[in-house]
Amino acid sequence: MSDYLLHCRKCGSYLRVEDCISCEHCPDALLRSEFPDLRFRVERRRGIWRFNWLPVQAPREGSAAPVVYRSERLGDRLGLKNLFVAFNGFWPERGAQVETCTFKQFEAEVVLANAREQGKNGLVIASAGNTARAFAHLSAQTGFPVVIVVPCMCLNEMWYLKSATRVPTAVIQDGDYADAIDVAERIARVSGMPFEGGVRNVAKRDGLGVVLMEAVSAIGRLPDAYFQAVGSGAGAIAVWEMAERFLLDGRFGERLPRLYLAQNLPFAPMFRAWKRGERRLASVDLDPGLIEEISTRVLSSRYPAYAICGGVYDALTASDGNMYGITNGEMAEARLLFEEMEGIDIVPAAAIAVAALQKSVKAKEIASDELILLNITGGGEKAIRREGRAVMVEGDFISKTISQEGIEELLCHVLKRN
Ligand SMILES: [Zn+2]
Repeated sequence: MSDYLLHCRKCGSYLRVEDCISCEHCPDALLRSEFPDLRFRVERRRGIWRFNWLPVQAPREGSAAPVVYRSERLGDRLGLKNLFVAFNGFWPERGAQVETCTFKQFEAEVVLANAREQGKNGLVIASAGNTARAFAHLSAQTGFPVVIVVPCMCLNEMWYLKSATRVPTAVIQDGDYADAIDVAERIARVSGMPFEGGVRNVAKRDGLGVVLMEAVSAIGRLPDAYFQAVGSGAGAIAVWEMAERFLLDGRFGERLPRLYLAQNLPFAPMFRAWKRGERRLASVDLDPGLIEEISTRVLSSRYPAYAICGGVYDALTASDGNMYGITNGEMAEARLLFEEMEGIDIVPAAAIAVAALQKSVKAKEIASDELILLNITGGGEKAIRREGRAVMVEGDFISKTISQEGIEELLCHVLKRN
């Protein structure tokens, strides 16, 4: 763990860490954390806190980590000699102990630890599903207060661990993920608890970048190509930023992994903009009606970090990557294939990445001997459900047009209950 500075990719300024989520000169640029420690180190701790490039000084003991392994059967089936899977979920037989069954648990670990060290009194979180479960779990485990805002349209894909059911959760009846973000920002202003910041929060991206640190520590070098499904794009940007640190270290490769990212058709605004060769997302591709038609609501962000300096467009360009659009049918087939080959169930969003891998093999975009890292962003839910530990989310239903008085009442109600 180390001290770090925030660096603006656009103007090159260095900023102090306190409460800073964007450069005052460059509202259209992401900041990234820069660690004085340029060498990658794996320390004698457990879980994700073994790695040195995290913006936390004194982490709590123990935390689950990704499991990275070489795939035999799926690799054979696809004709790939060096296919590695980063499994983020619950699969005790393989040593995977992420009980929330999502890589967002690493994000929640790092964001909450970072917020605590910065003296914040709590956080307001907006989520389309997995992030909510991860933050609820970590809040319940660590006692750090959070208020979570989710859209109702994502509820039927959502669940909490039984131990986290009392974490305050507001459900937007009449809106999507973008509305949840808007309401979360308003709740933050009324409650005095800061908004978590979404993709602009460096702690969030560094937490998601744990997947690449785990992979490099397991494999010994950077992959040639990396596959992941994207909603907000935070996970993909995180991998790019983490790969840049490995290049600076110099011992793990000389080229960025090519990022192969995928979205669920027909709601695929980044895929469509990339295919047009444009940095700008088209409003027609952001139509909320399209969200109703996709199987993976967790990927339904209408505010993805695509055009912003240091965002997905720049990550794809810098890494010579590509994007794929995956239909619901292709997703469902890939999901079955993965479970059949690897012996573990995966979430729909992870199957989007598997389907993208199949497409890129078919299109001969990757060579059979290249080192491929497939990010299975979530899986193992069946075992958690079998153990009876997954429960429906029971939140307080509110409208996206809730008034200031309404928010005050809600806070009074949910905070008193806890
Ligand atoms: Zn700047």
